Amino acid sequence: MSLNIHSSELPESERSLHEFWMNEAIAEAHKAESLGEVPIGAVIVRYGEIIGRGYNLRETTLDSTAHAEMVAIRQASIALNSWRLLDCQLYVTLEPCPMCAGAMVQSRLPLTVYGTTDPKAGCAGTLMNLLEEPRFNHRTEIIQGVLQEECAELLTSFFRQLRRKPPKS
Ligand SMILES: [Zn+2]
Repeated sequence: MSLNIHSSELPESERSLHEFWMNEAIAEAHKAESLGEVPIGAVIVRYGEIIGRGYNLRETTLDSTAHAEMVAIRQASIALNSWRLLDCQLYVTLEPCPMCAGAMVQSRLPLTVYGTTDPKAGCAGTLMNLLEEPRFNHRTEIIQGVLQEECAELLTSFFRQLRRKPPKS
């Protein structure tokens, strides 16, 4: 049984709450964009409070693991003084890659909410579904499609501008 829920299936009050937190993840994505990084952002929420924030820092840190979700997971673990992210929800603008989906399962995260799907790396149902793999000892529930257009537009406008830039001489 898949728990992968599209936000359009949710009641209005629940959907608008997820949109509120997704806007925080979008704000993180803008921080990445201002550094010339691919604009992807994430926040981790626990009992109505953000305990972890992150944005993509792969180029800045020369670190392939510096994805928004990984940065947010590390910060939340420090805040909770625990590697287990119990009672937490992770919001991310783009569907998680295999590494981040793996980290979500490893940290026992109960729920991941993402904005737009990633046809090239998405492991929350698009290419595979690592979050709801029944053979793992933990499954992370998924809600997708929250502020999908805004999250997708962040990426398309970033890559559109990249293409417009003249090549470095
Ligand atoms: Zn990732």
